[in-house]
Amino acid sequence: MTRATRAEINLAALKHNLQVARDATPNARQMAIIKANGYGHGLVEVARALRRADAFGVATLDEAINLREGGIYHPIVLLEGFTRESELPFIHAYDLECVIHHESQLAILEKHKAKPMNAWLKIDTGMHRLGFDVAQAGVVYERLMACESVNKPIRLMTHLANADDRNDPTTEQQCQQFMSVVQPLGQVETTIGNSAGILAWPDSHAHWVRPGIMLYGVSPFKDSLAEQHKLQSVMTLKSELIGVKPVKKGERVGYGGTYTCNADMTIGVVAIGYGDGYPRHAGSGTPVLVNDTRVPLIGRVSMDMITIDLTAAPSASVGDSVTLWGEGLPVETIASHANTIGYELLCGVTQRVNYHYLD
Ligand SMILES: *Cc1c(COP(=O)(O)O)cnc(C)c1O
Repeated sequence: MTRATRAEINLAALKHNLQVARDATPNARQMAIIKANGYGHGLVEVARALRRADAFGVATLDEAINLREGGIYHPIVLLEGFTRESELPFIHAYDLECVIHHESQLAILEKHKAKPMNAWLKIDTGMHRLGFDVAQAGVVYERLMACESVNKPIRLMTHLANADDRNDPTTEQQCQQFMSVVQPLGQVETTIGNSAGILAWPDSHAHWVRPGIMLYGVSPFKDSLAEQHKLQSVMTLKSELIGVKPVKKGERVGYGGTYTCNADMTIGVVAIGYGDGYPRHAGSGTPVLVNDTRVPLIGRVSMDMITIDLTAAPSASVGDSVTLWGEGLPVETIASHANTIGYELLCGVTQRVNYHYLD
């Protein structure tokens, strides 16, 4: 028997969430973002389930190659393009598209004489991470247009820094900056919005959108849960009780004895810990579902186990199912208890967890 700790991946929910993105942006094409192993859900499995997407976006060449070798023939965009000329043969062999965001890439493309690639020119409208300055954009566009190593037309993109906050004026400023670059160029295809853009910022819809976190059934906003956006949770992280024991009032539980029992109580031990990707920073009080009853985590998260207060679930026994996040328990809730975001928890599930795909 393998350990009960498992991630159940609901592929029907993934497809549903892509449809939510489409319904919100009916005139846009969907570049489904599946970097970081499909946000921790399994790269090729996610791509297969999302075959109705118009393209896929990944961060690394290895991810793109894994997709091709997994039989995915959609357009694939490398969101960070390439760093070295030695990557170009792979980009051609696997028929990949590149985001061009830096002078060093432009210099390589200008001297490179091989087969042309599809390019997305990235403009920095305020994120200040990747992209050419707005003031340089026109010149850079002309240089790319002159490259034999680049297919025409060239598409343009930018990325939003603050779209998760629906009251932040930065997003509209970024969209305006981007449009000031695009307008003089005439008919070019563009992309701006991520999940938050899709759900809250119509100005960011453009020709393509780039849904990421929403596909996995997680709200991109600070102040809402996925179900308010009709999104369905995709990953449910589960385990089981491997111990149940009475502990006396005044006794302390776990490493460092950070939790003191305020009464005689029954505690449960669950087979999951930070070695599985459950966040060590989740404090006492973080909710856990035992047979559908919410109970609080108590004490420190260990590598392979957590301890929980079973007062509200008195009939719980060894072998009972425990849900850490997913269906019935939003990952956003766990993330806020651990002082992080759902994205990080999903990406952080480790190899030790068994993945089960359900459709
Ligand atoms: C990760 C990423 C996205 C998706 O963002 P979400 O917030 O997950 O929707 C879109 N565009 C780029 C360039 C990204 O790196």
